[in-house]
Formats: sequence, structure tokens, C-alpha cells
Amino acid sequence: MSTVKRATPNGLCWDDCGGAPKPGSFFLPGHDKRAERYLTAIDGASSIADKLAARGYVPGQGSLRAATLASDSTYEECGRRTLDGSDCRVIGRGAGMRRHRADDDQHLPADS
Ligand SMILES: [Zn+2]
Ligand SMILES: [Zn+2]
Repeated sequence: MSTVKRATPNGLCWDDCGGAPKPGSFFLPGHDKRAERYLTAIDGASSIADKLAARGYVPGQGSLRAATLASDSTYEECGRRTLDGSDCRVIGRGAGMRRHRADDDQHLPADS
């Protein structure tokens, strides 16, 4: 699931209005905003879990975590071990991640 599908213009306006934009364009002027609103309406109708499943991010199948790490280089892995000794799977960025990593109640001591 690491391959992101890239769109290619096909001669039609992508808000599905039936119009024909300039060659190489996806939209008639202003219609990208319209498509965005439509997409928001569709997205609003499904739960987060539905959206994840639709993109193949199902735990045990496609990793949301790995995809996030691959898409946004500001995200990093915790790198510590949880209290039961397994690798901590938490990812995050910036101050939130530093706070998490510093939390000794959730992790084994650093040098064990
Ligand atoms: Zn259109
Ligand atoms: Zn952690």
C-alpha cells in the first residue's frame, strides 16, 4: 500500500460537471473548489475507520504508521521499549514526541 495513485488529466472536468477543461488541466476554472466541497461531503459521511479501510490502512494489512513515517519526514519513531520489553510503536513529531519519549512510566529505563 505504499504506492500513491497519481491522477492524470483525462479531458474531463474532475468535479464531474461534464465540462472539458484545457488540455493538461483537471478542472475548469474554480471547479477544483467545487470538487473539494463534494469530497468533504463524501468524507463527512464516513467514519475515520471507514476512511482508513478505503485506503487500505487496515491494521495487520497496510500500515498507517509506516505510510505516515514515509510521507512526512517530521514524524519519527519513539525508539524506546515499552514496559513489556517490546519496541514502542508510537510515532509523533516535535514537542509531543519528545514528551512521549521522556515518559518513563510508559517505557523501560533507557539502558536496559
Ligand atoms: Zn467542472
Ligand atoms: Zn514510546
